[in-house]
Amino acid sequence: MKFGGTSVAEPEDLKRAAARIVAERERGNKVVAVLSARGETTDDLLTMASEISERPSPREMDMLLSTGERISCALCAMAIWDLGHQAISLTGSQAGIVTDSSHTKARIVDVRAGRIEQALEQDNIVLVAGFQGVSTDSKDVTTLGRGGSDTTAVALAAALDAAVCEIYTDVAGVFSADPRIVSEARKLAVVSFEEMLEMAASGARVLQLRSVEYARNHGVRIHCRSSFEQGTGTLVIAEDETMENPFVTAVTHSADEARVTLSGVRNEPGIAGRIFTALADANVNVDVIIQNEPVSTEHGADLSFTVARDDLATAVAAIRAENGADEVLTDEQIGKVSIIGAGMRSHPGVAAKVFRVLGGEGINIEMISTSPIKISCVIAAERVDDAVRALHRAFDLGADAVFEEDSTGEHEARAHPL
Ligand code: ADP
Ligand code: ASP
Ligand code: MG
Repeated sequence: MKFGGTSVAEPEDLKRAAARIVAERERGNKVVAVLSARGETTDDLLTMASEISERPSPREMDMLLSTGERISCALCAMAIWDLGHQAISLTGSQAGIVTDSSHTKARIVDVRAGRIEQALEQDNIVLVAGFQGVSTDSKDVTTLGRGGSDTTAVALAAALDAAVCEIYTDVAGVFSADPRIVSEARKLAVVSFEEMLEMAASGARVLQLRSVEYARNHGVRIHCRSSFEQGTGTLVIAEDETMENPFVTAVTHSADEARVTLSGVRNEPGIAGRIFTALADANVNVDVIIQNEPVSTEHGADLSFTVARDDLATAVAAIRAENGADEVLTDEQIGKVSIIGAGMRSHPGVAAKVFRVLGGEGINIEMISTSPIKISCVIAAERVDDAVRALHRAFDLGADAVFEEDSTGEHEARAHPL
């Protein structure tokens, strides 16, 4: 059971989470709970660091950030004792979460769950601080990137061969769009790993991307649900377990990206390889990439790509060091809207409809990228909410199950079976 930041924010929230954990134990199950930092704690810690240093040491950053989830776990253990059950809180390191040593975005490389298993045998409820681990190389504390408690939970579920990994959050499950933007968004009863990967990668922060990858690779069943209400949420399962491939499942968005444009990139073999190797070495994830042919032989090419806004400074420094272009321009105000659906693999015309809808709203498309089950458009950040609502409406994603295509092909919305 994993509880996110809002689910443990106030004392009553934390006690509600403790009561849910205890209820599960009383149903006869062994329970390991992963907790996030309370409320805005992680943001507050980031602000605290920025008030002290412009470029804080990544190692010390992780020492700082990892404290938030420890607070939640210790407090929750106290609440569970008060409810008459034994509980023990563990840091990521004590829980055996072993990572590589890339501070602030470490990857889990091993889970040595012996101590948790022993504590469970001794009839404890085990609380594990999310979002952190320890590097065996450096013996230092690491953190797993924003939203990383989801990945802690999935990794523990895999290592312990858990029946299910329940992710408790502040919405009722995975929706057809962010319910904070689209009020008529529909809760999906099931979503395939493939679709959830695309959704997480394109901004649906309800599950961290890495947690979905981990779950798919290790066959972990995720049940994403509300910590405030009872009732089932969304099951994330293998595509062959879903009964059909919906045409379009969800609209996602992101406003946390930035664009880098290199002009005068020398038009010769190997240059793109050098530029993107420099970015990879700096641990920067690149998203949409566009390169234009030079207009004439004396001009270099133009190359644009998007990165997480947090990585912009690192990306620009890496490019400048590589010296691959005449000029490096940046744009911090970009947004991205995407539609995802496993059924679009076999349906032509989805991209055309997306572009028509955005055009109809007067929204300019600046960059486009696609995968077999996703279409993403980079647009102005201030038009993102409009774009999400327009696409959600045009593809009828809020509707109750509509399984027919109309004669114009304009209302081809499909819904997951319940
Ligand atoms: P937690 O603190 O529980 O980890 P997060 O804030 O990381 O919660 O993720 C939950 C939030 O994700 C929701 O409050 C919602 O606004 C946002 N979200 C974005 N897209 C979606 C989506 N498609 N379905 C559900 N939630 C979404
Ligand atoms: N507390 C961390 C964050 O805010 C990790 C998490 O909540 O999953 O990103
Ligand atoms: Mg989260």
